[in-house]
Amino acid sequence: MAQRTRTLSDLEAAELRGRRVLVRVDYNVPLDDDRRITDPIRIEATLPTLRLLVDAGARVILVSHLGRPDGAPDPAGSLAPVAAWLEDATGWNVPLLTEAPGSSELATRVAGLEDGEVVLLENIRFFPGETSNDPAFGTALGELGDLFVGDAFGVAHRAHASNVGAPTVIRAGGGTAVAGRLMEREIRFLRDTLRSPVRPFVSVMGGAKISGKIDLIEAILPTVDRLLVGGAMANTFLRALGLDTGKSLVEEDRVQMAADLLERGGDKILLPVDVVVASEISPSAQTRIVDRDDVGTDDRIGDIGPATRALFASEIRGAGTVVWNGPMGVAELAPFAEGTFEIARILADATDQGTLSVVGGGDSAAAAEAAGVAARMTHISTGGGASLDLMAGKELPGVSVLEVVDEVADVDGDAPDDAPDEAPAQVRTGGSTDGGAR
Ligand code: ADP
Ligand code: MG
Repeated sequence: MAQRTRTLSDLEAAELRGRRVLVRVDYNVPLDDDRRITDPIRIEATLPTLRLLVDAGARVILVSHLGRPDGAPDPAGSLAPVAAWLEDATGWNVPLLTEAPGSSELATRVAGLEDGEVVLLENIRFFPGETSNDPAFGTALGELGDLFVGDAFGVAHRAHASNVGAPTVIRAGGGTAVAGRLMEREIRFLRDTLRSPVRPFVSVMGGAKISGKIDLIEAILPTVDRLLVGGAMANTFLRALGLDTGKSLVEEDRVQMAADLLERGGDKILLPVDVVVASEISPSAQTRIVDRDDVGTDDRIGDIGPATRALFASEIRGAGTVVWNGPMGVAELAPFAEGTFEIARILADATDQGTLSVVGGGDSAAAAEAAGVAARMTHISTGGGASLDLMAGKELPGVSVLEVVDEVADVDGDAPDDAPDEAPAQVRTGGSTDGGAR
């Protein structure tokens, strides 16, 4: 029988009331020079999990890292701004506990928690045992909770004490470890959807490098119906076709790899037919549109051209599932942003018509936001490396450590239709969450 990750939604409120719940979240948010949070999406995205736990009367102990403090306390890495943000957003008291895991002070503080109370431990990377997944540190953390909720998707591809050591200890002691609401969505859309995509299944890939995404390309190539390639990644493919790419960014040592992929992918792979070029990639660049055979020796390719946008659009419209990872050009600079923005708008329109759209990668998510269409996508992942690995079909330690349950088959023998009951305005997802076929 098929199995799936056990989730918080599988638990009854009675199983949570009065229990100490250790919740690993990813509050690794960007801060400005005044230590103000510039983008709270990662905190917002955990609110469905936190509200469920508080409503059930759980005693919530939040654990997160922030930055890379390297195993020692560092005032610049304090989670104090996050505790303050949570208090503002929810109206709860969220004390920041600075005592070390394993200390009697912290044990006493946690033992005194009341039902529905929420506390946040100080940056877990202030302690050397975190990233080394030190067993003693994992035990100290695990002893704080009766059960574990994994909601830190952004670090799920790492095996650290707080996301792997602690849940292992809790499970060994007879407690459960389940996916939180955010982790549940990430698994559903990045793993389950890609295992059985509604067809046609189209992947849009771009960004700077083939090398960073080769595992995903390899994994997805056999299952996709179309692979649309843009960004600097496409330059390396154009070189593999023997075309002149001028002074464009090309991974010279990956040209052969691109040629092999073209050979294997056959007509599944669509490359740009025209491109936006300039003599420099800058905010004030003077651009021209040229066919891909006409790139000059001094040209730099910065975006896909209008004919390519139309070609890609015709594949995206009518797709059952689209996975998008990597901008079509240098989307952070206005002269080269339009190809990416156009693809984002077309994908949002398709999503309105029933296409299931999954966006992975920080720069792609930022581009969807800048184009004003992020909320219309089915799912925008909160993970970078973790989302690439999960989509590529790899085991993630932070997911594997969670309990699995048997999938209950419905009368057709299909997986149950777990139509989402959530529509939290705070979570940056929206559109058609169920992605009906068309
Ligand atoms: P994501 O974060 O969505 O996975 P990547 O990090 O792989 O995306 O790629 C984003 C980067 O790719 C951006 O810095 C962008 O400037 C760069 N890029 C995209 N197209 C080009 C191009 N034609 N030339 C140079 N850089 C490019
Ligand atoms: Mg990136």
